[in-house]
Amino acid sequence: MALIVQKFGGSSVADAERVFNVAKIVTDTYKKGNDVVVVVSAQGDTTDDLIAKQMEINPEANKRERDMLLASGEQISISLLAMACEKLGVPAISLLGWQAGFQTTSAHTSARIKNVDGQRIRQELDQHKVVVVAGFQGINRHEDLTTLGRGGSDTSAVAIAASLHADLCQIFTDVEGVFTADPRKVKNAIKLKEISYDEMLELATLGAQVLNNRSVEMAKKYGIELEVLSSLTNKPGTIVKEKPKMEKMIISGVAKDCDIARISIKGIPNEPGFAFKVFSKLSAKDINVDIILQSVGTEGTKDIAFTVAADKGQEAVDTLNDNKDALGFEEVTLDKDVAKISIVGAGMESHAGVATKMFEALYNNNVNIQMIATSEIKTSVLIAKKDADRAVSAIHDKFFD
Ligand code: ADP
Ligand code: ASP
Ligand code: MG
Repeated sequence: MALIVQKFGGSSVADAERVFNVAKIVTDTYKKGNDVVVVVSAQGDTTDDLIAKQMEINPEANKRERDMLLASGEQISISLLAMACEKLGVPAISLLGWQAGFQTTSAHTSARIKNVDGQRIRQELDQHKVVVVAGFQGINRHEDLTTLGRGGSDTSAVAIAASLHADLCQIFTDVEGVFTADPRKVKNAIKLKEISYDEMLELATLGAQVLNNRSVEMAKKYGIELEVLSSLTNKPGTIVKEKPKMEKMIISGVAKDCDIARISIKGIPNEPGFAFKVFSKLSAKDINVDIILQSVGTEGTKDIAFTVAADKGQEAVDTLNDNKDALGFEEVTLDKDVAKISIVGAGMESHAGVATKMFEALYNNNVNIQMIATSEIKTSVLIAKKDADRAVSAIHDKFFD
């Protein structure tokens, strides 16, 4: 008998038929003699709909109240799934995040899990029940509800698996695993049998939303192997683990992130200290900076461009303009019509010319590169948003055809 954690995303529980489909998977696993803890997201587009409701009432609403609202989506799906299991003859109990022992930091709408006290879940498992837990949520030290940020229920599942020392953690979704590119956008994308934590972490961070990046970080930290698979087809998925048996691929995937903005500061005095002053002002506002490019500088001035998350773009520009005189630059501009396209692969470390091949694919398709960033296992380029899908396909074809 094993302890198995199974997570189902929003599309897997979108309507009654899908809820029963999930209940069938869960109860079949239970009937094989396993202990089963299920983590679910809100049904379909529920979380987006809840955000839209908030925007109708108060776009500036405080984050505690936003969490109170957002956490309600998962309450619906856990109760419905527990009822469906009951209907299929298997005892089940639904638990909200706080009931399941999720203690988090206080950062509303982007809380981090501090601890999962698995006592209640264990009690219910001892009663031979399937335990259905609300993903994406917990409680802070003030006993207020918190949520973990979009896509956070993947992290909830991994946290439970780590806390209970589960034998298996399966992430069921609406595609058959992790692919070399988003299979909904790139028709010839290939399903990976296995991928390392490090590569998956890069892909997730660079825009492949199939797994939330924090969930991968946590899986790596606690050595939890994940299987990503479809709730709709009964096929083996992708295993995410420390050391996959290497398939003969130099890169494991192409990712796209359109949720990004570029900020350019022009006419900066060409003297020491500017980068420090600018980026400390931004970090004081909790604005994370990604790719940074600085020109060599001519005639006493230089320029700096960098990227931030799209929803932080205006705040970053306002912060800089508020300090314009002290910083002494001429002009700051914001461009939201950009996308970051990245290739990821452990093979890049040992093979020359991988980035060149990416640049060639872009050149052949007349896509202009605005910025470039590299690390051991990734190369990212910033391009115009309108070119993004075309660029992903061109790069994918170049490496995988
Ligand atoms: P869930 O609701 O199950 O959490 P998500 O929508 O968060 O599902 O993630 C699954 C989606 O991720 C897929 O439908 C797919 O379009 C997208 N995706 C992006 N990149 C990849 C990739 N490299 N491999 C698989 N899916 C990807
Ligand atoms: N329901 C939440 C969201 O839509 C959490 C998740 O799906 O993982 O972001
Ligand atoms: Mg998701």
